[in-house]
Amino acid sequence: MCGIVGYCGPRKAMPVLIQGLRQLEYRGYDSSGVAFLQGDSINVVKKQGKLVNLENALPSRAASTIGIAHTRWATHGGVSDENAHPHLSGNGKVAVVHNGIIDNFVDLRRELQDKGYEFKSETDSEVLAHLIDYYLDGTRGPEEAVSAALDRIEGTYGIIVLFKDDSELLIGARNGSPLIVGVGEKEMILASDATAFIGLSRQAIFLDDGEMAVISPREYRTVNRHQQEIQKPVEEVDIEAAEAMKGEYEHFLIKEIMEQPDAVSRAMGEGGRLLKDFGTAKLGGLNLEKRDFFDINRIHILAMGTGYYAGMVGAGMIENLARIPVQVFDASEYRVSNPIVQRDTLYLAISQSGETADTIMAVKEVQNKGGRVLGIVNVVGSTLARLTEGGVYTHAGPEKSVASTKAFTSQSTVLALMALLLGRMRDVPVRRGKELVDALLELPNKIHRTLGLRDRIRELAKKYKDYQSILYMARGNQYAIALEGALKLKEISYIHAEGFSSGGLKHGPLALISEDMPSVFIAMDGETLEKDINNIQEVRARKGPTLVVTDSDDPRLEDVSDDLLRIPKTDEVLSPILTVVPMQLFAYYVALELGREIDQPRNLAKSVTVE
Ligand code: GLU
Repeated sequence: MCGIVGYCGPRKAMPVLIQGLRQLEYRGYDSSGVAFLQGDSINVVKKQGKLVNLENALPSRAASTIGIAHTRWATHGGVSDENAHPHLSGNGKVAVVHNGIIDNFVDLRRELQDKGYEFKSETDSEVLAHLIDYYLDGTRGPEEAVSAALDRIEGTYGIIVLFKDDSELLIGARNGSPLIVGVGEKEMILASDATAFIGLSRQAIFLDDGEMAVISPREYRTVNRHQQEIQKPVEEVDIEAAEAMKGEYEHFLIKEIMEQPDAVSRAMGEGGRLLKDFGTAKLGGLNLEKRDFFDINRIHILAMGTGYYAGMVGAGMIENLARIPVQVFDASEYRVSNPIVQRDTLYLAISQSGETADTIMAVKEVQNKGGRVLGIVNVVGSTLARLTEGGVYTHAGPEKSVASTKAFTSQSTVLALMALLLGRMRDVPVRRGKELVDALLELPNKIHRTLGLRDRIRELAKKYKDYQSILYMARGNQYAIALEGALKLKEISYIHAEGFSSGGLKHGPLALISEDMPSVFIAMDGETLEKDINNIQEVRARKGPTLVVTDSDDPRLEDVSDDLLRIPKTDEVLSPILTVVPMQLFAYYVALELGREIDQPRNLAKSVTVE
């Protein structure tokens, strides 16, 4: 996510840093900032919003030749000037930029506060600045201090550190977030990706996890976690190709589809939101005592569009595991229906952006009537995140394409964690809980394998692109995916599509079937497979072309389908998180074949901030 840049050399640092940030803009961000040496102190300028806000706030003449810079996509702490990076240690000796998430920041912050450090932001990252400062105690030099601080960190990071007392030193380190060193003539640049080096250097050293780079204008050293010097190859980078990387994908939509293994993993806190031994989940932000959950007799989920379908998936999971009745509402309808708000109902609002006006208004209606609302939101500090009493961030990373993909899978994953938590508080025994924890942990890998179908799906898209209309059918917990699949296709290809329950087919939609009307079926192994096969046959008998997605190896499926896509098996409760992936890929490739404006479909906006 997001980006960091550092520079030291003979040039003025500021233009280099700003150009670097500009190159990294495509990664998505909500604020930016720089730190540079001025006289004998570190100056920090940081602003929320677009890079121009930062540029307008910079001093017109900053002669400094060393500095660090950051674009932030908030994970911990709202979007504000204070929470933007760089972060400065209390006495101004150390400035840090950080990409990633520090899992144990709460403990570290408490420890540092006890030692007298004052925190100015709500971020996880600020602990780094104070911790490095703490270890810079006279007995340790900068390199040892950074290393000692990193030994204490659990989580992911790409960092660059600037020191007040060393005007020619930058230290970079990585664990999980990328960092590359660009080696120039008497100058060095560090950045999260090589596009930031444009015009400066083509020689690059790619740091690996657990490695640190100690940089000054004329030399660099790379060391491992034990501070042993290591030799890393200097590689020639093709900046133009690197720039195209954004780039490597033609559209944000396919980039975001492909990012889903990571996004889903982050929604599980890289496993940190799961308690393996107890076979349950841990969701810190709910702001509810466990015992409050005993009083919940009902859950109402409020959302729009793709969030609504994630809500349906979640409702199935919660009812299945926790046996609590859940209803999902179109938030715009809920708001105008004079909803019955009750003490023993928990209200859950779902929104990627946290700015969806329809959902926000429904939440206010519930709150005005005294209801308790929790949020499932991707964008930290967004309106909905601030409005609700608690909730869970999905941490899916920036989603730029209007059609939502990784937000859906990460919302569904968070709902699965909630279902597991509530289920284990009620009837689910620890053995079943552990089974689900294992299945959740395997999910990113299975999504990855499902993404391997994309070449096949691209071929299928050529065959299906010219139809006027396509039907989607599924039953049980896959019904929501039929609806979501149809929505994706409508949104980006402009082909008319409708989702139905497979059982509903005979109650009307069957009249539409002909050789001009293909059907996409999701037919999963288990109790309902027989019925699904019958439904597919009913369509077949009326010459309707059929594309079937399944996790079953029942040979009859080959016979009844024109095209068959097999996906890996996972726990039945979690399977909608996998079946949606071929739906997304199918919509993408059909739209691509048709030459549509994929990332910004006509008439649609990313965050729907009006009712
Ligand atoms: N977790 C940090 C924050 O919220 C860094 C986010 C980023 O990678 O930009 O400030």
